Amino acid sequence: MSNTKYIFVTGGVTSSLGKGIVSASLAKLLQARGYSATIQKLDPYINVDPGTLNPYEHGECFVTDDGAETDLDLGHYERFLGVPTSQANNITTGRIYQSVINKERKGEYLGKTVQIIPHITDEIKSRIQLLGENGNWDFVITEIGGTVGDIESLPYIESVRQLRWELGKDSLVIHLTLIPFLAASGELKTKPTQHSVKKLLEYGLQPDVLVCRAEHDIPQDVRNKVARFCNVESEAVIASLDAETIYDVPLLMMEEKLDQVVLKKLDLKVGEDPALTTWKTFLTKLKNPKNSVTIGLIGKYVELKDSYKSIAEGFIHAGAHNECAVQIEWIHSESINKENVQEKLGHLNGVLVAPGFGERGVDGKLVAVQYARESKTPFFGICLGMQCAVVEFAQNVLGLSSSSREHNDNTQHPVIDLMAEQKKVEDKGGTMRLGAYPCKIEEGSFAHKAYGETEISERHRHRYEFNSAYKEEFAQAGMKASGINPETGLVEIVEITDHPYFIGVQFHPEYKSTVAKPHPLFIEFVKATLENS
Ligand code: GLN
Repeated sequence: MSNTKYIFVTGGVTSSLGKGIVSASLAKLLQARGYSATIQKLDPYINVDPGTLNPYEHGECFVTDDGAETDLDLGHYERFLGVPTSQANNITTGRIYQSVINKERKGEYLGKTVQIIPHITDEIKSRIQLLGENGNWDFVITEIGGTVGDIESLPYIESVRQLRWELGKDSLVIHLTLIPFLAASGELKTKPTQHSVKKLLEYGLQPDVLVCRAEHDIPQDVRNKVARFCNVESEAVIASLDAETIYDVPLLMMEEKLDQVVLKKLDLKVGEDPALTTWKTFLTKLKNPKNSVTIGLIGKYVELKDSYKSIAEGFIHAGAHNECAVQIEWIHSESINKENVQEKLGHLNGVLVAPGFGERGVDGKLVAVQYARESKTPFFGICLGMQCAVVEFAQNVLGLSSSSREHNDNTQHPVIDLMAEQKKVEDKGGTMRLGAYPCKIEEGSFAHKAYGETEISERHRHRYEFNSAYKEEFAQAGMKASGINPETGLVEIVEITDHPYFIGVQFHPEYKSTVAKPHPLFIEFVKATLENS
């Protein structure tokens, strides 16, 4: 294909209509038709990245191979497409302004007054086109965060308006709206969609395709009405109905011919409908489980499930792979203590202690680890969860008065300590150990069995690490370091051998689990919980 095509996805009426999933589904369908596609998210907030945000604000922070801390929608893009994203796939207003202001300080604007138009919009446009310029993609799908009409997203909408002019036939706008159903009158209402498109038109942007979220199927006469009021063809009015699982959405979009409409509008070959065999096999297994297990996810942000989005999706992938329904029981770590742990965790087939920051909830996590270790319940600790497993072992097996340096600066035995390169770090944003690092796995370990190989690479996001001074003492007592970074010697994986399944990983395997390639550690953990059911 000659020119990269740019597809812009905007949202109207309300947030949470599923722009990320629709974008990922469209990209999936284009990919399945033989095109290459990447997705980019533009976020209107002023934070430079979501790394410093509390998970309660926007859910999980997703980390890419190149160490970018990004919006959780990038996780959906990777899980759907199986193609890694990078820093270039997520841009915030904060990052745009930071870069423009840095250029201004360097005198790069040659004495000009620096303004939203053209300077901010030029910066946005160049970040959008950057992905197209590297020549790897037939399609760059750019999702604009927020809802049309928000003050914050105006510079993005203006940039899209300008790009539509510049790119002409190489671009297209999809607007996602809501067609509510009024139960009292038994009718689907199109007015909010009309208003939302009018708002877009006020900003000079005519959508080419409308994806209308609705609770009931949208009959042809309603589609015609929307088309007439909004200057789009009625075949370009696409219904997006509530789905049983987000993984149904690509197939639903294919039934609605979203991909065909897009390809025709861009004068591209449509061809046969793709078979999507792997995808459909996954869905069949997901919907027809032969077994079921209950896994406790012990965390401190459990009120907002999006805080652990990639972990939850990792279990969906690994569950389907094992033809097993994984029920996650979300357990607040602050609610667990020595007195109630049996009652809280006794019925579980497996225990996962989640990543996290700060001291709150750590005591409950330590109690949960102790319970899993002693009762021989399959255990999986991720990042802080692994660190808790190490501290618990130090306290209760080695009998050390011990803690992570993160939770007690004066601890006698800092078995988890601040990494050397972190000691001089002052800024909070973007300064953790981030992104992909290699790890060498010991043969015969749980990890080796899971991965089936000894050299892996996984993504990181942490400041603290296993204190290698204690490695020998731990190994002798039964907790061994089975994964090591070959370059730095940092401990990446710990295991208790005398246990049906007990593993803690310093990295975040959940970021790399996809529909086509469920993560080996999730697969293996689910298997272990099945054996314990
Ligand atoms: N707070 C711990 C650290 O910074 C763990 C981080 C995490 O769980 N992502 O090392």
